[in-house]
Amino acid sequence: MKITLLTGKTFDLQKAFNLPLKVRSSLKIARLSLRIDTKKRQVILNMPLLCSKKRAYAFVESHLDWIEAHLLKIPIAREFKNNETILLFGQKVTISHIPNSLSSPKLNDNVLEVGGDEVFLHRRVKDYIIKQAKTEFFKRSQKLADRLGCKIKNVTIKDTASRWGSCSTLNNINYNWRIALAPDYVIDYLMAHEVAHLKHRDHSADFWQCVKDLYPGYEEGQMWLKKFGKNLYLYS
Ligand SMILES: [Zn+2]
Repeated sequence: MKITLLTGKTFDLQKAFNLPLKVRSSLKIARLSLRIDTKKRQVILNMPLLCSKKRAYAFVESHLDWIEAHLLKIPIAREFKNNETILLFGQKVTISHIPNSLSSPKLNDNVLEVGGDEVFLHRRVKDYIIKQAKTEFFKRSQKLADRLGCKIKNVTIKDTASRWGSCSTLNNINYNWRIALAPDYVIDYLMAHEVAHLKHRDHSADFWQCVKDLYPGYEEGQMWLKKFGKNLYLYS
């Protein structure tokens, strides 16, 4: 990030420290501070407008250990790879890249055949999962909703950054596409959770009883999401 100082001189902190560093400078910033943007894997330096280059440089330099420790803690994003075996709707599936194939991804037994340039492999697998999830999750959710005498209006598959699912007052249910990669009992729990919201809009004792009626072993799925759900978020 090149900064043009009031004196007209520029300097490049990113280059000087070989760090993914972004400088934010504004009148509102009163003092030098550092922040880590974990999503972008970037260091943000907040710098007052009138701060000197020398001071900013010294400040970053004195915090290099802190920066490095925090950058190391950020998990590396995952992408689907050729020959990788994933869990898809509770079934073990191996991704097989077929460079010359122009057809859309196809599941053959336990092999997911994906054509096209390898650069787009991740994107194509993700699109395939999203498409399948819409049908699969609608079917599974409506089956549970039938037991409550409720009708689901629509199921939408989302690429949200923090939520696994949600249910609107209009009976539209949203699911995060990554849940397709969780063990089957986790999917069952989430479907039971969102479907129970068709009857109970809160997280009251009655709501949880309804989840239990729909899926008696729900606690295990809930626990899994709490413990390992973050690993699924590594898929971009
Ligand atoms: Zn809920």
